[in-house]
Amino acid sequence: MCLEGFFPFPPLLAELLTSNACWTARVTASNPNFFPRSAEGQSPRVLWIGCSNSRVPESVITDSKPGDIFTTWNIANQFHTDDLSSQCVLEFVINGLPNIEHVIVVGHTNCGGVKAALDAARDGIPVAPPLDRWLEPLVAHIKTLPDLPNQTLSNVVKENVKMQIENICSSDTIKSIKKTVYIHGWMYHLEQGHLEDLGFTWKVTPNRSEAGPAPGEIDPSSHWNEVFWWKR
Ligand SMILES: [Zn+2]
Repeated sequence: MCLEGFFPFPPLLAELLTSNACWTARVTASNPNFFPRSAEGQSPRVLWIGCSNSRVPESVITDSKPGDIFTTWNIANQFHTDDLSSQCVLEFVINGLPNIEHVIVVGHTNCGGVKAALDAARDGIPVAPPLDRWLEPLVAHIKTLPDLPNQTLSNVVKENVKMQIENICSSDTIKSIKKTVYIHGWMYHLEQGHLEDLGFTWKVTPNRSEAGPAPGEIDPSSHWNEVFWWKR
């Protein structure tokens, strides 16, 4: 591809590269070994499944460093059971990164993808292709929610997070898991910059032979109000 027509270099891109140079200098000044050590390998403890929205950058809003959080993003933080990309990320993280302890599905307020799905399910407003195919499972799920005419976008964002967690738990990777992992649902509030734990965390472990909740073993002081052990 010929880039001749793009020069002089776009100021916005020059600004990004300059900012990167300033950032690396700043990080190196405070920790000279950071980048050499980072290049040796990664050992994140968290997988973040989020929306691609530019206002929800996980490392910024959690004040994390490179290497802390393994991430995958897409429109409306979906985890489709037939999406090869999502399935590969989960498989790589669960069986390839030994320190992973938590998987977090993160929705956010005023999500355009979820709003498009809600508008389609409730009001019959068509979603433009190819997003219509991407959001099809969510649209179908929204149509099953009670009192659909009065569903708020905020509530549907929460229902979407819950749906994706259930999809994750139904994956082959989780069903054959060899260690204990917690799968959480969070919501980011754009208006305040706050992350909210939605309170539906699932625990998956290979040490149980029964499928379904075991209420007597749920710690009432815990926020984990849904615990599920997978049948092996
Ligand atoms: Zn979004």
